Amino acid sequence: MINKLSKKWSDGTKNLVNNSKLNLVRVYDNEFIDQESTDMLKSHSLDETCHCDFCGQRIKYVSVLEFDKNTNLTYFQIGKNCMSYLFDYGMRINGLEHAKAQVENAVKQLMKKSTERARVEKYKSEFDTYLKWLDSLDKSFIVKNNFLTFINNRLRTGDGVVTMKMMAALDNMIKKYTPHNTSHLDETKPKLLKKIDGLLEEMKIIYDNFESNGTYKFVKSVRDYVEGRGNATTKQLDALNNIFKKVKKERVELRQKLLTRKPKVVDNTIPW
Ligand SMILES: [Zn+2]
Repeated sequence: MINKLSKKWSDGTKNLVNNSKLNLVRVYDNEFIDQESTDMLKSHSLDETCHCDFCGQRIKYVSVLEFDKNTNLTYFQIGKNCMSYLFDYGMRINGLEHAKAQVENAVKQLMKKSTERARVEKYKSEFDTYLKWLDSLDKSFIVKNNFLTFINNRLRTGDGVVTMKMMAALDNMIKKYTPHNTSHLDETKPKLLKKIDGLLEEMKIIYDNFESNGTYKFVKSVRDYVEGRGNATTKQLDALNNIFKKVKKERVELRQKLLTRKPKVVDNTIPW
C-alpha cells in the first residue's frame, strides 16, 4: 500500500520521510502568496514554488515542511497529494498527526480566500452598476440600511453569492435612491426631532383621539427611536415622508372645509 501510494517518490525521499521528525512551517497559496509566507521562505533560503518537491506535480496549495533527521534539517515544499501520502506513512514520522489538522485547516482557509478573491473580480465586472451607485451614495445612508450595509460588504469582499432576490432588491433601490434624495439623512438629531414634533402637532389638529391613532403612534415610536439612536432608518424616513405628504393633504382639505363654511358666517350685507 505504502509503496503504491508513494510510487512517484525517489528512494531518497522515501528514506528521508522514514523515521524523520516533521515540522509544518507553513501552508501557502502560490497563486496569491502573502507577505508573511514570502518572509518565511526567504528566512529559510527557499523560493516560492508551484511544483511539488516530492512528486514533481503542479500544485497550488503548498505545505512547507521541515524534516529533522538526526538533527540534519531539510526543507520541502509539497502538495496536497503527497501530504496525504505522508499521512499514510503514519507515525513513522513524528509530529505528523498534528500537522494533518493544521494543513487541512490552512488549505480550507486558503481556498475560502481564493474563492472570495475570484468573486470580487467577478462582481467588479458583473455588478459594476451597483458598485458605482453604492460609491455615489452617502456613507451614512448605507450604514443606516441593514441590507445596503450587507450587500455593499458582500460585493466588495466576495464573502458569499449574490442571489436573484438580492439583485431584485438592488434594482428596486437603485431607482429609488440617489445621492441627492438621500442627503437629508445627514440631518442631525435635533433637526430631525423638530421635524417629527411638527408632524405630531399637525396630526393632533387633524385627528380626533389622535392618541389612539395608529399613524400617530407610529410617528411617536419613530421619535423615540431617533431620541435613542440619534437618527432614523431609511425605512422610517420613507414612512415619515409618506405620512407627511398625507397629513399635508388632509390639512389642506381641512382648511378648505373651514373656508367653505366661512361665507355662511360672514355678513355680506355690510360692505355693499
Ligand atoms: Zn507531490
